[in-house]
Amino acid sequence: MPELPEMEIATRRLAAALPGETIESALAPGINALKTFDPPLHAIEGRAFTGVYRRGKLLLLELDDLVLLLHLMSAGRLQLLDKRASLRDRTSRLLLRLPEGRELRMREFGSKQAAWVKLLRASDLEAEESLASLGPEAWPDPPPLRELLDAPRPLHSLLRDQQVISGIGRTWVDEILNVARLSPFKRGDDLSEEEAEALRAAMISELGRVLDVYEERVDLPLPEKFPKPTRVHARQGEPCPQCGTVLEAVFYEDYVMTYCPTDQTEGRVLKDRRLSRLLK
Ligand SMILES: [Zn+2]
Repeated sequence: MPELPEMEIATRRLAAALPGETIESALAPGINALKTFDPPLHAIEGRAFTGVYRRGKLLLLELDDLVLLLHLMSAGRLQLLDKRASLRDRTSRLLLRLPEGRELRMREFGSKQAAWVKLLRASDLEAEESLASLGPEAWPDPPPLRELLDAPRPLHSLLRDQQVISGIGRTWVDEILNVARLSPFKRGDDLSEEEAEALRAAMISELGRVLDVYEERVDLPLPEKFPKPTRVHARQGEPCPQCGTVLEAVFYEDYVMTYCPTDQTEGRVLKDRRLSRLLK
């Protein structure tokens, strides 16, 4: 679930709190989310945070010449808590213990164990595949999209492809496409110059709108569940925020795509996912 706006607000809040804080101990308990072994995790013990950054949906915690790179995937959460976790807490993936009993904790909920952590030397960051493969940021100033999305693939999939453009996932893609009045199934290489510009504007305004809500409502320790200022995603049956038409949805195995037939699909209702596959 964490997409660009969730990771951006987490970055802002942690960037205001962590620099100067010393890590007393570092643990990656249970099923090992730590994907690197050199340098070892204990190399960060006794070090202080020097910076907190975001790239796409990835978070970078800088400790001088070492960097912790975190990806929460779909079910990970990161919180700065006043209390330390029980070591029996099976959701814990990374525990960074700070002075005065505080702790930066990465947890993961649900059955999949996909969230991960890497400890890298700053000098190796440039070669790190998960960063090097990322497309340009979707916010605040994405590049013109006509050329970037020039591929025979549906927008819904292109926009969520982090190698094409980074930061957008299953929730905010529905909001962006609705504001841009574009079908999730329209192919990237079918976008007109005008549509590409509308899509870029919608991307900037929607991600910015969500961030504004988070600025108001999200604070440390960072919520387990973020407020969800959605107007379209998973709101099938409710009125479209643009035109009032009842929103429709296509259901996939583990997510839902919501859209307005009037604004986005020329009146067509694409409820059946076999049909939606044909349209890809
Ligand atoms: Zn509509």
